[in-house]
Amino acid sequence: MPSSHPRGISPHASDEPFQSDLATGKLLCQDGQRSVALVMGLLQSFHSVLNENFGESSKDLLYRSGFEWGLQEMLALNSRLQPGKGIGLGQMEPQYVFDSWGKCLRACGHGTASFDFTRLDRGIALVELQQSAIASALEGAGQPACHLYAGLFAGAFSFYDRVERHAVEIQCAALGQPACTFIVGPGSDVDAAEAARQKGAGTAEILSRLG
Ligand SMILES: [Zn+2]
Repeated sequence: MPSSHPRGISPHASDEPFQSDLATGKLLCQDGQRSVALVMGLLQSFHSVLNENFGESSKDLLYRSGFEWGLQEMLALNSRLQPGKGIGLGQMEPQYVFDSWGKCLRACGHGTASFDFTRLDRGIALVELQQSAIASALEGAGQPACHLYAGLFAGAFSFYDRVERHAVEIQCAALGQPACTFIVGPGSDVDAAEAARQKGAGTAEILSRLG
């Protein structure tokens, strides 16, 4: 995007996920959104401080924060993908919308997300997240740890579907599992998946029950 580069940023750096603006000290994504580099320890401290102060409620706080984040992400994506054309994200192919968004998440270090829409006729999507930053920070957790991302996906799909969606993480790399997997959809399906997980059902069984 050489023509839209803010002053002071080299257009030759456009293949890089980030560009630094030395004049202002800003770190910018390719789309011009401001970003910030954080050390992993901060992510760990963020979760531990919330847990110390709010206990179990911290999961809900993280989820709700992620939900709002997801809404804002989709608002920004809506502007980027269809500036001025009057077509909302909901009218665009989900694979295109979410793959586009996934590139942004990956560039920002959250991990590599892939989306399965084979159950979309029932309002259900699966998200597999490889290299989750939160799971990496909280390795060794006893429960799925990516509540912020669960909320993020719930918020994003709620925006896309124009109806409230819920999300739950049914397996998490923080527990040593190969990837973080999330079910996103109507509350009843998500609640049933979480109940099954808590009773010891594995990912394959939970997914088979989804149909
Ligand atoms: Zn996870």
